[in-house]
Amino acid sequence: MRISKEIIDAVVQRTDIVGLIGEYISLKKVGSNYKALCPFHSEKTPSFSVSEKGFFHCFGCNEGGNAISFLQKYLNLSFVEAVSELAKRCGINIDLQEFEQSEESEIRDLYNIAQEFYSMLLVQNSGVEALDYFKQRNLSMETIKEFSLGYSSNKWDALFREFMRRGISTELVIKSGLVVNKNNKFYDFFRNRAMFPIKDYLGRTIAFGGRQIDGNKSSPKYINSSDTVIYDKKRTLFGIAEAKNSIRKTDEVFIVEGYLDVLSLSQAGIKNVVAPCGTALTKEQLIYLKKHTNVNVLYFLFDGDLAGMNAALRGIPAALEVGFDLRIIKLPEGQDPDTLINLEGGYDEFMYHKNHACSFVDFICDRKRNENKLETPAEKSETIQEIIKLIFLIKDKTQHLFYLENIKEIFNMPIEILKNIYRDLLRNNAKPKASNKEENNEASTKDVFFDAEKLFPEEKTIFKFILKNKQNFKTIKEDYRVAENSFITDIAKSIFEIINEFWDAEDVVQELMKEEDRDEELIQLLLKLKMEEFSQSAKWKEFTEIETKVNTEKVVGVALARLRVKAIEIELKELQQKLKVGDMQGLQQINCLQKEKQDIINTDLRYE
Ligand SMILES: [Zn+2]
Repeated sequence: MRISKEIIDAVVQRTDIVGLIGEYISLKKVGSNYKALCPFHSEKTPSFSVSEKGFFHCFGCNEGGNAISFLQKYLNLSFVEAVSELAKRCGINIDLQEFEQSEESEIRDLYNIAQEFYSMLLVQNSGVEALDYFKQRNLSMETIKEFSLGYSSNKWDALFREFMRRGISTELVIKSGLVVNKNNKFYDFFRNRAMFPIKDYLGRTIAFGGRQIDGNKSSPKYINSSDTVIYDKKRTLFGIAEAKNSIRKTDEVFIVEGYLDVLSLSQAGIKNVVAPCGTALTKEQLIYLKKHTNVNVLYFLFDGDLAGMNAALRGIPAALEVGFDLRIIKLPEGQDPDTLINLEGGYDEFMYHKNHACSFVDFICDRKRNENKLETPAEKSETIQEIIKLIFLIKDKTQHLFYLENIKEIFNMPIEILKNIYRDLLRNNAKPKASNKEENNEASTKDVFFDAEKLFPEEKTIFKFILKNKQNFKTIKEDYRVAENSFITDIAKSIFEIINEFWDAEDVVQELMKEEDRDEELIQLLLKLKMEEFSQSAKWKEFTEIETKVNTEKVVGVALARLRVKAIEIELKELQQKLKVGDMQGLQQINCLQKEKQDIINTDLRYE
């Protein structure tokens, strides 16, 4: 089943595309549009434009579309998922289950069922131990509900039976990883555990972490879901769905180590907190975080023990590389965020530590000093070089100097000497070369049919005029009698034919973008033509000046006349090549065309 056109129309109309895209990347207003560095290709000067009229386009890589296609491309959603996400944003109700039947969505359903099942068990008699566990950790019913915590039964197949009761196939159930098949006996993967659902950015449960509550020494304290088609633990952060709004609002995020750290801080009002899911912090998780929240300030808030400090050290390169303003909070020996915030006066203490967070430079030096590894000249030199190599990872070069200042203060040495070391290391460092290569690959050209470069400039001018509104198309067709064969290139002919099909639409491109199986190349081309109006290209400036002096229609008239002249010239060339001696008919044809050409030049193009 497909989503009705009415819903798609309503969703597109009610979505403020500038607000939507602005949630993910920083937009800057330029003229009547918004510009940004393109999220779809690597670039240093912004060529990504967003128009309040409801579309975006990148002049570098030609990505473009409306709010739906932005979410599809940016969040890797299907068409239906993107529409439903936008619908949620603007308060339109649609039931996804009616539309999607892919295996991925079926497995999502299983996780949703499992999460509701575990939550239900938690508040029944059998769940009392798990509920006690959460309460001992000071978690309120409100927090338990917000994070959808639960309990998995100590019966060996409670969830499996629930799935069977609902008529779900055994094959699918096994694929989900929630049930395990051992010698044709089916048993639940999570049994007798306090359950922490792991959700994706949109708040859909995609995995679980389960903590032991019976103190059984023979099984691990925590077990976590394995990767599935809907879950990649290297790219997932626990708490992201609950934290995303607060992260955006504060432009800050705390990375902690455990599920309970997330829950306790969130309950204490520090909502902008996430944790890796039973793995060490990965670069992919940080990229995911940056991409989905556009947050700048990142706090490492790890446990105050050796393991926590090592985790912080290991995380530094990735955090710098992904482009965070990294700060590291050092907790007192033996404390973790969960215990700290639950202390008497814990919130104030937390804020104190936050306000005394240090730079990665300070953190590394402190660490070495405490281990007595910052004593000899060799140790100091090694540390300085290690830090400078980390500084190279920061893309914003302006920051480099400030971090050098940071080193200068710690070692009390002249900045000029540090700058020399920096330059020497930079020269021997392979990094800048790699980034050059990346730049050369910018906007790779694909072999496409709908390529704007293949159009004649006159054809472009006419389409720019047509694409402005419905009335212009009418003018072109009725007053100028333009038809498919008025154009020369095959692309232009196809475009005209397609626009002709949508003659009734106020905005053809908007209509085309609403199609689920739309032709992306065609849309990119049309958007490019539409957006070029706003680009600062000299040619177009010239065009708009003419537009104000005379009027647009005259410009279009001239373009059509020139196009006709070009068409005649092409035809003439062909005829002259074919012409044989004594071919009177051919000669007459040539004369006719030459006369027509001269007429056009004398009348329509006389001011050219
Ligand atoms: Zn781009």
